[in-house]
Amino acid sequence: MVTLDRKDLAKYPFLKESQAYIGTISSSLEQYLQSPGGRVAIREALLMLTQALSFSGKETPPVPEIPPDQESVTTIIATYPVSRIIVSCAQDRMLIDRLVRYQSWLFFAFLQDEDESIKKFIRHSIGLPETAMEISVVDYIPVATRMTEERWRLVNRVVNKGRVRIRPEEYDEIVRERLRYIMARNLPLKVPSQICEQVKPAIDRIKSEWQKKILEEFGTVEESAFPPCIQAILGAISGTGHLTHMARFAVTAFLHNIGMENTRIIELYGSVPNFDLRKTMYQVEHISGRGGTGNEYVSPLCATMRTHGLCIHRDTICNRINHPLSYYKLKKRDLARNKSKNPAKAGSVEKKNAGGDKPEESGSNFPDSISSSADNKNKD
Ligand code: SF4
Repeated sequence: MVTLDRKDLAKYPFLKESQAYIGTISSSLEQYLQSPGGRVAIREALLMLTQALSFSGKETPPVPEIPPDQESVTTIIATYPVSRIIVSCAQDRMLIDRLVRYQSWLFFAFLQDEDESIKKFIRHSIGLPETAMEISVVDYIPVATRMTEERWRLVNRVVNKGRVRIRPEEYDEIVRERLRYIMARNLPLKVPSQICEQVKPAIDRIKSEWQKKILEEFGTVEESAFPPCIQAILGAISGTGHLTHMARFAVTAFLHNIGMENTRIIELYGSVPNFDLRKTMYQVEHISGRGGTGNEYVSPLCATMRTHGLCIHRDTICNRINHPLSYYKLKKRDLARNKSKNPAKAGSVEKKNAGGDKPEESGSNFPDSISSSADNKNKD
Protein backbone atom coordinates (compact mmCIF):
# COMPACT_ATOMS: atom_id res chain seq x y z
CA MET A 1 0.00 0.00 0.00
CA VAL A 2 1.45 3.37 -1.06
CA THR A 3 0.76 6.59 0.82
CA LEU A 4 0.92 9.65 -1.40
CA ASP A 5 2.02 12.92 0.16
CA ARG A 6 1.06 16.39 -1.07
CA LYS A 7 4.07 16.62 -3.36
CA ASP A 8 3.13 13.34 -5.01
CA LEU A 9 -0.36 14.68 -5.67
CA ALA A 10 1.14 17.77 -7.30
CA LYS A 11 3.50 15.70 -9.44
CA TYR A 12 0.70 13.48 -10.72
CA PRO A 13 -2.43 15.69 -10.86
CA PHE A 14 -4.23 13.25 -13.21
CA LEU A 15 -4.60 10.72 -10.36
CA LYS A 16 -8.04 10.42 -8.85
CA GLU A 17 -6.43 11.05 -5.43
CA SER A 18 -5.18 14.44 -6.67
CA GLN A 19 -8.54 15.34 -8.14
CA ALA A 20 -10.26 14.35 -4.89
CA TYR A 21 -7.84 16.63 -3.01
CA ILE A 22 -8.57 19.58 -5.29
CA GLY A 23 -12.30 18.88 -5.36
CA THR A 24 -12.70 20.28 -1.84
CA ILE A 25 -11.23 23.75 -2.44
CA SER A 26 -14.35 25.47 -3.76
CA SER A 27 -18.06 24.81 -4.00
CA SER A 28 -18.09 25.36 -7.77
CA LEU A 29 -15.64 25.66 -10.64
CA GLU A 30 -17.11 29.03 -11.61
CA GLN A 31 -16.47 30.38 -8.14
CA TYR A 32 -12.97 28.93 -8.03
CA LEU A 33 -11.98 30.54 -11.36
CA GLN A 34 -13.10 33.93 -10.03
CA SER A 35 -11.13 33.55 -6.81
CA PRO A 36 -7.51 34.79 -6.44
CA GLY A 37 -6.37 31.13 -6.38
CA GLY A 38 -8.33 30.42 -9.55
CA ARG A 39 -6.77 33.38 -11.32
CA VAL A 40 -3.31 32.14 -10.39
CA ALA A 41 -4.24 28.68 -11.72
CA ILE A 42 -5.35 30.23 -15.04
CA ARG A 43 -2.05 32.10 -15.26
CA GLU A 44 -0.09 28.92 -14.51
CA ALA A 45 -2.14 26.98 -17.05
CA LEU A 46 -1.27 29.58 -19.68
CA LEU A 47 2.39 29.22 -18.79
CA MET A 48 2.12 25.45 -19.09
CA LEU A 49 0.45 25.79 -22.49
CA THR A 50 3.17 28.14 -23.69
CA GLN A 51 5.78 25.60 -22.61
CA ALA A 52 3.77 22.88 -24.35
CA LEU A 53 3.86 24.84 -27.62
CA SER A 54 7.64 25.13 -27.49
CA PHE A 55 8.28 21.57 -26.35
CA SER A 56 10.01 19.46 -29.01
CA GLY A 57 8.78 16.10 -27.71
CA LYS A 58 12.23 14.68 -28.26
CA GLU A 59 13.77 14.83 -24.84
CA THR A 60 12.57 14.84 -21.27
CA PRO A 61 11.66 18.38 -20.11
CA PRO A 62 13.29 19.74 -16.94
CA VAL A 63 11.18 18.99 -13.88
CA PRO A 64 10.02 21.99 -11.85
CA GLU A 65 10.63 22.21 -8.11
CA ILE A 66 7.45 21.47 -6.12
CA PRO A 67 7.14 23.72 -3.06
CA PRO A 68 5.76 21.81 -0.06
CA ASP A 69 3.18 24.39 1.11
CA GLN A 70 -0.49 23.71 0.68
CA GLU A 71 -1.25 26.77 -1.45
CA SER A 72 1.41 25.98 -4.06
CA VAL A 73 0.39 22.35 -4.21
CA THR A 74 -3.25 23.34 -4.70
CA THR A 75 -2.31 25.69 -7.55
CA ILE A 76 -0.15 23.07 -9.25
CA ILE A 77 -2.89 20.44 -9.10
CA ALA A 78 -5.53 22.93 -10.25
CA THR A 79 -3.35 23.93 -13.22
CA TYR A 80 -3.92 20.49 -14.70
CA PRO A 81 -7.75 20.64 -15.03
CA VAL A 82 -7.68 24.37 -15.83
CA SER A 83 -5.28 23.81 -18.74
CA ARG A 84 -7.54 21.04 -20.03
CA ILE A 85 -10.54 23.35 -19.75
CA ILE A 86 -8.75 26.07 -21.74
CA VAL A 87 -7.81 23.76 -24.63
CA SER A 88 -11.28 22.23 -24.61
CA CYS A 89 -12.90 25.64 -24.90
CA ALA A 90 -10.36 26.60 -27.59
CA GLN A 91 -11.58 23.58 -29.62
CA ASP A 92 -8.26 23.21 -31.35
CA ARG A 93 -7.08 19.65 -31.80
CA MET A 94 -3.44 20.56 -32.34
CA LEU A 95 -3.38 22.61 -29.15
CA ILE A 96 -4.88 19.67 -27.29
CA ASP A 97 -2.23 17.36 -28.70
CA ARG A 98 0.57 19.70 -27.72
CA LEU A 99 -0.70 20.00 -24.16
CA VAL A 100 -1.18 16.27 -23.73
CA ARG A 101 2.23 15.51 -25.17
CA TYR A 102 3.95 17.99 -22.87
CA GLN A 103 2.10 16.86 -19.76
CA SER A 104 2.73 13.17 -20.40
CA TRP A 105 6.46 13.85 -20.81
CA LEU A 106 6.48 15.97 -17.67
CA PHE A 107 4.82 13.28 -15.54
CA PHE A 108 7.13 10.75 -17.11
CA ALA A 109 10.09 12.97 -16.10
CA PHE A 110 8.88 13.00 -12.49
CA LEU A 111 8.53 9.23 -12.58
CA GLN A 112 12.17 8.72 -13.49
CA ASP A 113 13.32 9.57 -9.96
CA GLU A 114 10.60 7.75 -8.07
CA ASP A 115 10.81 4.74 -5.79
CA GLU A 116 9.72 1.49 -7.32
CA SER A 117 6.60 1.51 -5.09
CA ILE A 118 5.38 4.84 -6.57
CA LYS A 119 6.20 3.67 -10.10
CA LYS A 120 4.14 0.55 -9.56
CA PHE A 121 1.29 2.61 -8.13
CA ILE A 122 1.22 4.94 -11.16
CA ARG A 123 1.39 2.02 -13.61
CA HIS A 124 -1.48 0.37 -11.82
CA SER A 125 -3.48 3.65 -11.81
CA ILE A 126 -3.19 3.94 -15.57
CA GLY A 127 -4.22 0.35 -16.18
CA LEU A 128 -0.83 -1.21 -16.87
CA PRO A 129 0.73 -4.20 -15.11
CA GLU A 130 2.88 -3.10 -12.17
CA THR A 131 5.96 -4.78 -13.57
CA ALA A 132 7.13 -5.04 -17.15
CA MET A 133 6.66 -8.37 -18.86
CA GLU A 134 3.77 -8.17 -21.25
CA ILE A 135 0.66 -6.13 -21.92
CA SER A 136 -2.48 -6.96 -23.84
CA VAL A 137 -2.58 -6.24 -27.58
CA VAL A 138 -5.61 -4.02 -26.98
CA ASP A 139 -3.60 -1.80 -24.63
CA TYR A 140 -0.48 -2.01 -26.76
CA ILE A 141 -1.87 -0.84 -30.10
CA PRO A 142 -3.03 2.72 -29.24
CA VAL A 143 0.24 3.28 -27.39
CA ALA A 144 2.57 1.87 -30.06
CA THR A 145 0.82 3.67 -32.93
CA ARG A 146 2.51 6.84 -31.77
CA MET A 147 6.00 5.40 -31.58
CA THR A 148 8.10 5.71 -34.71
CA GLU A 149 10.84 3.13 -34.21
CA GLU A 150 10.43 -0.14 -36.09
CA ARG A 151 10.84 -2.17 -32.91
CA TRP A 152 7.44 -0.95 -31.69
CA ARG A 153 5.54 -2.27 -34.70
CA LEU A 154 3.40 -5.21 -33.73
CA VAL A 155 4.95 -7.40 -36.44
CA ASN A 156 8.31 -6.94 -34.74
CA ARG A 157 7.09 -7.96 -31.26
CA VAL A 158 6.72 -11.31 -29.59
CA VAL A 159 2.98 -11.82 -29.10
CA ASN A 160 1.69 -14.74 -27.11
CA LYS A 161 -2.00 -15.43 -26.45
CA GLY A 162 -3.00 -11.83 -27.12
CA ARG A 163 -0.21 -10.37 -24.97
CA VAL A 164 2.78 -8.40 -26.22
CA ARG A 165 6.17 -9.02 -24.60
CA ILE A 166 7.84 -5.85 -23.22
CA ARG A 167 11.43 -5.72 -22.05
CA PRO A 168 11.95 -4.03 -18.63
CA GLU A 169 14.07 -1.27 -20.14
CA GLU A 170 11.25 -0.43 -22.58
CA TYR A 171 8.57 -0.13 -19.99
CA ASP A 172 9.01 3.55 -19.09
CA GLU A 173 8.35 4.53 -22.70
CA ILE A 174 5.17 2.46 -22.66
CA VAL A 175 4.09 4.23 -19.46
CA ARG A 176 4.70 7.65 -21.03
CA GLU A 177 2.69 6.85 -24.14
CA ARG A 178 -0.05 5.23 -22.10
CA LEU A 179 -0.25 8.43 -20.02
CA ARG A 180 -0.60 10.45 -23.18
CA TYR A 181 -3.26 8.11 -24.52
CA ILE A 182 -5.27 8.25 -21.31
CA MET A 183 -5.04 12.02 -20.98
CA ALA A 184 -6.00 12.58 -24.62
CA ARG A 185 -8.96 10.27 -24.80
CA ASN A 186 -11.41 12.49 -22.86
CA LEU A 187 -10.43 15.70 -24.63
CA PRO A 188 -12.00 18.01 -25.59
CA LEU A 189 -14.07 18.10 -22.40
CA LYS A 190 -17.65 19.27 -22.53
CA VAL A 191 -17.27 22.61 -20.77
CA PRO A 192 -20.31 24.81 -19.98
CA SER A 193 -20.30 28.00 -22.03
CA GLN A 194 -20.17 30.26 -18.96
CA ILE A 195 -16.90 28.59 -17.90
CA CYS A 196 -15.46 29.04 -21.40
CA GLU A 197 -16.45 32.68 -21.16
CA GLN A 198 -14.49 33.01 -17.92
CA VAL A 199 -11.31 31.66 -19.47
CA LYS A 200 -11.79 33.47 -22.80
CA PRO A 201 -8.89 35.94 -22.34
CA ALA A 202 -6.59 32.97 -21.71
CA ILE A 203 -7.95 31.20 -24.81
CA ASP A 204 -7.34 34.27 -26.96
CA ARG A 205 -3.79 34.60 -25.63
CA ILE A 206 -2.89 30.99 -26.30
CA LYS A 207 -4.54 30.96 -29.72
CA SER A 208 -2.50 33.93 -30.79
CA GLU A 209 0.68 32.26 -29.41
CA TRP A 210 -0.26 29.15 -31.35
CA GLN A 211 -0.82 31.07 -34.56
CA LYS A 212 2.62 32.61 -34.18
CA LYS A 213 4.10 29.17 -33.60
CA ILE A 214 2.46 27.69 -36.71
CA LEU A 215 3.89 30.48 -38.82
CA GLU A 216 7.32 29.96 -37.29
CA GLU A 217 7.17 26.21 -37.81
CA PHE A 218 5.74 26.01 -41.28
CA GLY A 219 6.52 29.39 -42.82
CA THR A 220 5.66 29.70 -46.50
CA VAL A 221 3.70 26.91 -48.15
CA GLU A 222 6.12 24.90 -50.26
CA GLU A 223 4.49 22.30 -52.47
CA SER A 224 7.77 20.59 -53.34
CA ALA A 225 8.02 19.57 -49.68
CA PHE A 226 4.61 17.87 -49.58
CA PRO A 227 4.81 14.19 -48.65
CA PRO A 228 4.23 11.66 -51.44
CA CYS A 229 0.78 10.70 -50.15
CA ILE A 230 -0.44 14.30 -50.24
CA GLN A 231 1.13 14.85 -53.68
CA ALA A 232 -0.67 11.73 -54.91
CA ILE A 233 -4.03 12.93 -53.58
CA LEU A 234 -3.51 16.36 -55.13
CA GLY A 235 -2.61 14.59 -58.37
CA ALA A 236 -5.86 12.68 -58.19
CA ILE A 237 -7.78 15.92 -57.64
CA SER A 238 -6.41 17.45 -60.79
CA GLY A 239 -6.75 14.12 -62.64
CA THR A 240 -9.92 12.10 -62.28
CA GLY A 241 -11.10 14.06 -59.26
CA HIS A 242 -12.38 10.87 -57.71
CA LEU A 243 -11.50 10.88 -54.01
CA THR A 244 -12.72 9.03 -50.95
CA HIS A 245 -13.98 11.03 -47.96
CA MET A 246 -10.84 10.11 -46.07
CA ALA A 247 -8.57 11.35 -48.88
CA ARG A 248 -10.44 14.66 -48.99
CA PHE A 249 -10.21 14.96 -45.25
CA ALA A 250 -6.49 14.10 -45.16
CA VAL A 251 -5.49 16.61 -47.81
CA THR A 252 -7.74 19.40 -46.55
CA ALA A 253 -6.62 19.03 -42.95
CA PHE A 254 -2.97 18.82 -44.05
CA LEU A 255 -3.19 22.00 -46.14
CA HIS A 256 -5.02 23.79 -43.36
CA ASN A 257 -2.49 22.64 -40.74
CA ILE A 258 0.46 24.04 -42.73
CA GLY A 259 -1.26 27.41 -42.94
CA MET A 260 -2.87 27.41 -46.38
CA GLU A 261 -5.89 29.69 -46.54
CA ASN A 262 -9.31 28.18 -47.14
CA THR A 263 -9.84 30.10 -50.37
CA ARG A 264 -6.68 28.53 -51.83
CA ILE A 265 -7.73 25.04 -50.68
CA ILE A 266 -11.14 25.52 -52.28
CA GLU A 267 -9.44 26.68 -55.47
CA LEU A 268 -7.51 23.39 -55.57
CA TYR A 269 -10.79 21.50 -55.58
CA GLY A 270 -12.01 23.69 -58.39
CA SER A 271 -10.59 21.33 -61.04
CA VAL A 272 -12.60 18.36 -59.79
CA PRO A 273 -15.31 17.32 -62.29
CA ASN A 274 -18.78 18.16 -60.90
CA PHE A 275 -17.13 20.63 -58.50
CA ASP A 276 -19.75 21.84 -56.06
CA LEU A 277 -18.60 25.13 -54.55
CA ARG A 278 -21.09 25.23 -51.69
CA LYS A 279 -20.43 21.68 -50.62
CA THR A 280 -16.65 22.12 -50.89
CA MET A 281 -16.78 25.35 -48.90
CA TYR A 282 -18.81 23.65 -46.22
CA GLN A 283 -16.38 20.72 -45.96
CA VAL A 284 -13.25 22.87 -45.96
CA GLU A 285 -14.62 25.29 -43.38
CA HIS A 286 -15.83 22.45 -41.22
CA ILE A 287 -12.39 20.81 -41.18
CA SER A 288 -10.63 24.11 -40.53
CA GLY A 289 -12.92 24.94 -37.64
CA ARG A 290 -14.78 27.83 -39.21
CA GLY A 291 -17.94 25.97 -39.99
CA GLY A 292 -19.73 26.56 -36.73
CA THR A 293 -18.29 23.68 -34.69
CA GLY A 294 -15.17 25.69 -33.90
CA ASN A 295 -13.38 22.36 -33.94
CA GLU A 296 -10.13 22.30 -35.91
CA TYR A 297 -8.95 18.96 -37.22
CA VAL A 298 -5.47 17.54 -37.52
CA SER A 299 -4.44 15.59 -40.59
CA PRO A 300 -4.22 11.83 -39.95
CA LEU A 301 -1.20 9.91 -38.76
CA CYS A 302 0.72 7.77 -41.27
CA ALA A 303 -0.71 4.67 -39.58
CA THR A 304 -4.24 5.91 -40.30
CA MET A 305 -3.26 6.82 -43.87
CA ARG A 306 -1.93 3.27 -44.32
CA THR A 307 -5.16 1.77 -43.01
CA HIS A 308 -7.11 3.75 -45.60
CA GLY A 309 -4.79 2.87 -48.49
CA LEU A 310 -3.53 6.44 -48.73
CA CYS A 311 0.11 5.85 -47.85
CA ILE A 312 1.55 5.73 -51.36
CA HIS A 313 4.95 6.25 -52.98
CA ARG A 314 6.73 6.17 -49.62
CA ASP A 315 10.30 7.41 -49.78
CA THR A 316 13.27 7.42 -47.41
CA ILE A 317 12.00 10.37 -45.37
CA CYS A 318 8.90 8.31 -44.59
CA ASN A 319 11.08 5.94 -42.55
CA ARG A 320 11.91 8.74 -40.13
CA ILE A 321 8.44 10.05 -39.37
CA ASN A 322 4.98 8.90 -38.47
CA HIS A 323 3.00 11.95 -39.51
CA PRO A 324 2.74 13.67 -42.91
CA LEU A 325 3.24 17.05 -41.19
CA SER A 326 6.56 15.83 -39.80
CA TYR A 327 7.52 14.75 -43.33
CA TYR A 328 6.72 18.25 -44.59
CA LYS A 329 8.87 19.89 -41.91
CA LEU A 330 11.84 17.62 -42.53
CA LYS A 331 11.68 17.93 -46.31
CA LYS A 332 11.25 21.67 -46.12
CA ARG A 333 14.28 21.96 -43.89
CA ASP A 334 16.33 19.84 -46.33
CA LEU A 335 15.20 21.97 -49.27
CA ALA A 336 16.12 25.14 -47.39
CA ARG A 337 19.58 23.72 -46.65
CA ASN A 338 20.12 22.77 -50.28
CA LYS A 339 18.93 26.14 -51.37
CA SER A 340 21.41 27.96 -49.13
CA LYS A 341 24.23 25.64 -50.24
CA ASN A 342 23.41 25.91 -53.93
CA PRO A 343 21.08 28.83 -54.64
CA ALA A 344 21.40 28.51 -58.44
CA LYS A 345 20.02 24.98 -58.51
CA ALA A 346 17.34 25.39 -55.92
CA GLY A 347 13.94 25.28 -57.52
CA SER A 348 11.38 25.17 -54.82
CA VAL A 349 7.89 26.22 -55.78
CA GLU A 350 6.61 28.71 -53.30
CA LYS A 351 2.98 29.23 -54.03
CA LYS A 352 1.70 31.30 -51.22
CA ASN A 353 2.98 33.18 -48.27
CA ALA A 354 1.24 31.87 -45.18
CA GLY A 355 3.02 34.06 -42.73
CA GLY A 356 5.86 36.19 -43.92
CA ASP A 357 9.17 35.06 -45.31
CA LYS A 358 10.72 33.75 -42.15
CA PRO A 359 13.14 30.92 -43.00
CA GLU A 360 12.58 27.49 -41.51
CA GLU A 361 14.22 26.99 -38.11
CA SER A 362 16.93 24.35 -38.03
CA GLY A 363 15.71 21.02 -36.71
CA SER A 364 12.18 19.76 -36.92
CA ASN A 365 10.27 20.24 -33.74
CA PHE A 366 6.96 19.12 -35.07
CA PRO A 367 5.90 16.07 -33.07
CA ASP A 368 6.45 12.86 -34.96
CA SER A 369 3.80 11.39 -32.80
CA ILE A 370 1.15 14.00 -33.07
CA SER A 371 -2.20 12.32 -32.76
CA SER A 372 -4.95 12.84 -35.20
CA SER A 373 -8.51 13.80 -34.71
CA ALA A 374 -9.10 11.51 -37.64
CA ASP A 375 -8.30 8.66 -35.31
CA ASN A 376 -11.08 9.44 -32.94
CA LYS A 377 -13.43 11.84 -34.64
CA ASN A 378 -15.85 11.80 -37.49
CA LYS A 379 -13.81 12.86 -40.46
CA ASP A 380 -16.26 14.49 -42.79
S1 SF4 B 1 4.68 7.26 -44.61
FE1 SF4 B 1 3.33 8.94 -44.03
S2 SF4 B 1 4.15 10.71 -45.11
FE2 SF4 B 1 5.03 8.92 -46.11
S3 SF4 B 1 3.63 8.48 -47.81
FE3 SF4 B 1 2.96 7.26 -46.06
S4 SF4 B 1 1.40 8.48 -45.05
FE4 SF4 B 1 2.55 9.84 -46.40
